[in-house]
Amino acid sequence: MSTGVELRNIVKRYGTFTAIDSVSLSIRDNEFFALLGPSGCGKTTLLRTLAGFEMPQEGTVLVGGQDVTHTRPRNRPLNLMFQSYALFPHMSVERNVAYGLEMEKLPRDEIRSRVAEVLASAQLTQFANRKPDQLSGGQRQRVALARALVKRPRVLLLDEPLSALDKKLREEMQLELKRMQSEVGITFLIVTHDQEEALVMADRIAVLRDGRLEQVGAPQELYEHPSSRFVANFIGVMNFLDGTATREGVEVPGIGLLKGESTLSGPASIAVRPERVTLTTEAPTDGRNAVPGTVEDIAYHGIDLVAHVRAAGTSIAARIPAARVGEKVPQPGQPVFCVWEPEYSRVLPLN
Ligand code: ATP
Repeated sequence: MSTGVELRNIVKRYGTFTAIDSVSLSIRDNEFFALLGPSGCGKTTLLRTLAGFEMPQEGTVLVGGQDVTHTRPRNRPLNLMFQSYALFPHMSVERNVAYGLEMEKLPRDEIRSRVAEVLASAQLTQFANRKPDQLSGGQRQRVALARALVKRPRVLLLDEPLSALDKKLREEMQLELKRMQSEVGITFLIVTHDQEEALVMADRIAVLRDGRLEQVGAPQELYEHPSSRFVANFIGVMNFLDGTATREGVEVPGIGLLKGESTLSGPASIAVRPERVTLTTEAPTDGRNAVPGTVEDIAYHGIDLVAHVRAAGTSIAARIPAARVGEKVPQPGQPVFCVWEPEYSRVLPLN
């Protein structure tokens, strides 16, 4: 049976404030789907509407093809793991995980085997007899996840499930969550404001802005083909040069035409990712885009270097891969050209 989720024209208002403004979304069976956006854009509200804790003024919520818009939260075939994952402090890890199944009055043997299975997949077997206060933050978060997973909901809703963890543990848990999701084969809907997290884990991402859907797509699609400046800025780093769009690209004052596929006219930006920009000392003659400037600084980003170049009244970032660092790295104060192939240009509206 289908375990997909569908939101149709959801509107949620608080008084005169519209928190969700006519959002429609389809989430496929067994998909790992992320809702991404800045603080206050409506992610939690949308998740709570899906779970049934908020009632929308307009729209329909379907789970597995069934209209659940007016169904109580506990009767919906989904499970919400809250931001604060309250575990019972006096119960062992095992009992915490078993609790939901005991409430359902399942046979003891079945409870035991399901709990053992989920503890193993969350790598918690060795902590089964510990109390929550004898665990690390990451282990506690895994218990909360195991508790949600053991009930085998068709859809698991996770609100910032990794927010409490430090960077390293968060990265480990991202992979673990992804592994658990593909093992268990349920639909995951995760809320995050962390673009990297969404890119690593999700099959598809919906970017929300002020209660509206800005763009929905696979991580690579959003990264390579952002439909707006907002998405381009929110996912990864993007350089923008403002000007006037023509059919060949964008005419930038003081620079001239920078080429790129364009369907726009009027005020627009030409955008290019830092990893697509190469720095040269000579102007290219092969038709690539080139913007003259001066190196402002060189910064370490992990193993790569990033040069910031003052050019065309703005700052252009150019990523220099570690493999090329052995070659001559430009120095601050040095005049350079920021060069890229027109195919890596994106022509986007100004807002
Ligand atoms: P964050 O990442 O900070 O958790 P979010 O994207 O999850 O943010 P929501 O919590 O969904 O944002 O809130 C969306 C908007 O709705 C915010 O502007 C918030 O102030 C407003 N809002 C949420 N709940 C209520 C409420 N009960 N009454 C009035 N306004 C609310």
